Amino acid sequence: MSGDVIKIKSLKVFAHHGVFEEEKQKGQNFYINANLYSDLAKAGRKDDYDLATSYAEVCETIIRSVTEVNYNLIEAVAEHVAEAILHEYPLVTGVDIEVSKPEAPIKATFHSVSVEIHREWKDAYIAFGSNMGDREGYIEDALDAIANHHLIELKEVSTKIETKPYGGVKQDDFLNGVCHIRTIMSAKELLEYLGKLELIAGREREVHWGPRTLDLDIILFGDEIISTKDLCVPHIDMNNRDFVLEPMCEIAPFVRHPITHKTMSDMLAELKNR
Ligand code: AMP
Repeated sequence: MSGDVIKIKSLKVFAHHGVFEEEKQKGQNFYINANLYSDLAKAGRKDDYDLATSYAEVCETIIRSVTEVNYNLIEAVAEHVAEAILHEYPLVTGVDIEVSKPEAPIKATFHSVSVEIHREWKDAYIAFGSNMGDREGYIEDALDAIANHHLIELKEVSTKIETKPYGGVKQDDFLNGVCHIRTIMSAKELLEYLGKLELIAGREREVHWGPRTLDLDIILFGDEIISTKDLCVPHIDMNNRDFVLEPMCEIAPFVRHPITHKTMSDMLAELKNR
């Protein structure tokens, strides 16, 4: 991540993390490095404390996060610190967190062992659709679950629109829409989570493009371009789907496709003119 950064170096915290019983009992010193990515221009130009992220408060958050739960792994400590900072400091959009353990129980001479992770908020758009049973209920339950997930913030939900089925299979009409979220998860983790929500809604994958209680697709994930066996982002077929582009135009008309650089409005206009 580039841009402005606040740096906290070697914050010493005594805590009881470790796989071994002795580490849990006796405790040891951990040292935390944190890079906090945030636009510092406003605070700097106005020399105004109220426009800044207080590094003193961030240090308190780190100390609290490192001491409130005893973990086996320093990976878990780093994850917990990253999540706390990203949730508690609205100006911070991303963090690098390094947790090091110079007194780790290793029979060798070493300076320290450490892990470093990078986490950041990513804006993403998810399309939802249902054409079986209580369509509205399935969609609302999924949106509630998304809104309540601790690694996701639900920002906006489009109007739900009635649409004709797509893909040639004879079936009932759909209820479709999109939502805008912000998440600390990776796109792969988000896909896995959406798959779980589809399962909870009782979705069975029998007919390709067939009827479904709930379909959740990742349309955009920040500016990321992903092409793997299980995940294609931006969604490979979004330019052909008015039931995706119509609601996208309602909540994000100026957002651009990261490959073609066309706005959602451009894409919908092109689809309608075909
Ligand atoms: P469908 O339910 O018909 O949308 O297809 C779901 C399958 O498409 C899943 O098994 C995913 O692995 C795969 N897939 C590929 N790209 C995406 C995406 N952007 N969003 C959701 N599913 C995707």
